[in-house]
Amino acid sequence: MTTTRFAPSPTGYIHVGNLRTALFNYLIARKAGGSFILRIDDTDPERSKEEYVDAIKEDLTWLGLHWDRVERQSERLERYAAAADELREKGRFYEAFETPTELDLKRKKQLNMGKPPVYDRAALKLSDAEKDALRAERGGHWRFLLDHARIEWEDGILGAQSIDAASVSDPVLIRGDGQVLYTLASVVDDMEMGVSHVVRGSDHVTNTATQIQMIEALGGAAPNFAHHSLLTGPQGESLSKRLGTLSIRDLRAKGVEPMALLSQLARLGSSDPVELRGSVEELIEGFDITRFGAAPTKFDVADLDPLSARLLHGLPVEAVAEDLGAAGIPEGDQAAFWSVIRENVETRADIARWWQVLSEGAQPEASPEDAEFVAEALAMLPPPPYGAEAWAEWTGAVKVKSGRKGKQLFMPLRKALTGRARGPEMADFMPLMKAPPKPLG
Ligand code: GLU
Repeated sequence: MTTTRFAPSPTGYIHVGNLRTALFNYLIARKAGGSFILRIDDTDPERSKEEYVDAIKEDLTWLGLHWDRVERQSERLERYAAAADELREKGRFYEAFETPTELDLKRKKQLNMGKPPVYDRAALKLSDAEKDALRAERGGHWRFLLDHARIEWEDGILGAQSIDAASVSDPVLIRGDGQVLYTLASVVDDMEMGVSHVVRGSDHVTNTATQIQMIEALGGAAPNFAHHSLLTGPQGESLSKRLGTLSIRDLRAKGVEPMALLSQLARLGSSDPVELRGSVEELIEGFDITRFGAAPTKFDVADLDPLSARLLHGLPVEAVAEDLGAAGIPEGDQAAFWSVIRENVETRADIARWWQVLSEGAQPEASPEDAEFVAEALAMLPPPPYGAEAWAEWTGAVKVKSGRKGKQLFMPLRKALTGRARGPEMADFMPLMKAPPKPLG
């Protein structure tokens, strides 16, 4: 059975980088007919907030990425304690007492001597009496004792991986204050929840090496790991500082369509082109993790706007009925409105803008050299309602009166009725108008 999980820490809103991880795991599970777990990594009671748990669920729901069950690490602390006991019994867990400052100093010394900054395991040499004294003085934390061998796995994206355990510090699994750290919790969960595939960012590659040893020490079998590249900005710059502004909720507020975002992220960084898909089901079909490469993946938020617009242009009226209703468009007008307007919206917010123009009248725009012409033309405009011929009749009459033709004639009149230089077919637009344009300001 294929089981994957998306494991955010509820310490902030999820962003495009998190979404990439969520989506890959989701698609793998769904493609295999397996199970997708939303795992809330909330072992840090100070930084984890319930409002972020709610926000994560809301964002995933908006995206249409439905989970089969939710697991919370804060509710599984006794499982982690049991695993810690097991590692202790097996001689793979030891207490260490260095303060962060002492560790920092050690690292600096090692770096100065040209050595890798790996924890020197000084704690292993302490006598029981020394440990008792240090524990009483400052408390201790717990590290996993790595077996200094090569750790190898076949990564679903990066290919064959081999990491020398001696080049990695023994990971701290339980902090001085008793807080269980992610590495231990994640290993226990992946084992006990039957997680078969773990896709996560390549910043976790070293974690994976240590986690494989921990899983084996606990008598489990490592899942299939795949590490996707991290997203960068369009120039290849790190996104880490900007990710805060690329939260899913910010994108939603900007009018990005969920399927535009998912279509882009399901392909970005792979050898296949981004293709707009209308549903998550279509994404599942076309998804193949082996098509992704290890190179950093450029992400440009601006690419989402044309994708979102294209997506909207293709939607049938039923798919926007809620937005049309919310904009106050009477049901009887909705179908006609959407067929005339849809090619002219960039985001759903444009629906209400166009309806305002139609229902209240546009604020006409005219350049100074067109002002008189437009004022005269508006004086010739009969009041609504308008039929299918209204545009041809009106512009015909204005043409005779003014002697203007072509763009000189039509552009100022379009702007007068819509307030914009570009927009729908005017012959179709006029019959939707409920109010004449406002007087030229
Ligand atoms: N909570 C971890 C993170 O957000 C999960 C990493 C993992 O997938 O194992 O980085």
